[in-house]
Amino acid sequence: MAVLVGLDIGGTKIMVASADREGNILRRVRAETSTSLEADLANIDRMIAAVAADEEILGMGAAIGGPLDWEQGIVSPLHQPAWRNVPLKALMEAKWNCRFRVDVDTNVAAIGEYRWGGLFAERFLYLTLSTGMGGGFLIDGKIYRGQDGAHPEVGHQSIHFRCSNPSAVQCECGVSDCLEALVSGNGIRRIYGKSAETLNPEEWQEVAYNLGQGLRNLAALYAPHVIRIGGGVAVGGGERFVSAAREAMQEHLRLVPAPQLGLSHLGYDTALRGAIALALLK
Ligand SMILES: [Zn+2]
Repeated sequence: MAVLVGLDIGGTKIMVASADREGNILRRVRAETSTSLEADLANIDRMIAAVAADEEILGMGAAIGGPLDWEQGIVSPLHQPAWRNVPLKALMEAKWNCRFRVDVDTNVAAIGEYRWGGLFAERFLYLTLSTGMGGGFLIDGKIYRGQDGAHPEVGHQSIHFRCSNPSAVQCECGVSDCLEALVSGNGIRRIYGKSAETLNPEEWQEVAYNLGQGLRNLAALYAPHVIRIGGGVAVGGGERFVSAAREAMQEHLRLVPAPQLGLSHLGYDTALRGAIALALLK
């Protein structure tokens, strides 16, 4: 049986899976990301061989951190310093003799949620809250891109926030009032001095309020039908966190209809499943 292969290449781990044409995962492997590009590439080739198990590969898709040139498939993920201007698409297509597509991890996760997350939404926004924060916006299932292919950075919008420790609000991009600085794993650690899993209910409430302000801006600007949220912080916060964020969003949203808001249906596999969906795209 011919297979699809999906890769989720992250700053701490690499996951590779093979799937059938319906996206059912057949085999999967994971490894730590190293500090050497050569070692990572050799590892990826071994992992692909392991999940393909001598079957024909119909196509491959990959999710990786930005920035990248999605058309040429040249990647320079910010949190993997050894990877700079890597012609990943050319390397993979030459080695594996099949089509290879790569995109920013949050775009790929949006594609995964859209395709396998049991939803139909003409205008769909996917957000991830993990170490950092990002998102992908799909119109009729197609990725919305900015000028010259630029990836819109929804985490770096300014919001009107509430914070019990305002002097600790500092975004890694250099600005002091970004949404990411208030709701991402790293931002939470900086503000509250602990990881998201150990926040008390009042602290969760504050994070949810701030996320709600960002959601309100996104809803007002894009007017999407559906917003789904994934990533470790959101999955950890669960339904209670999302419903508090929904309340804050709705309280301040005027003139546009409120989007349907919920947690990702794919848990920690959104980007990996998205990479498989990417391999299927015409
Ligand atoms: Zn920022």
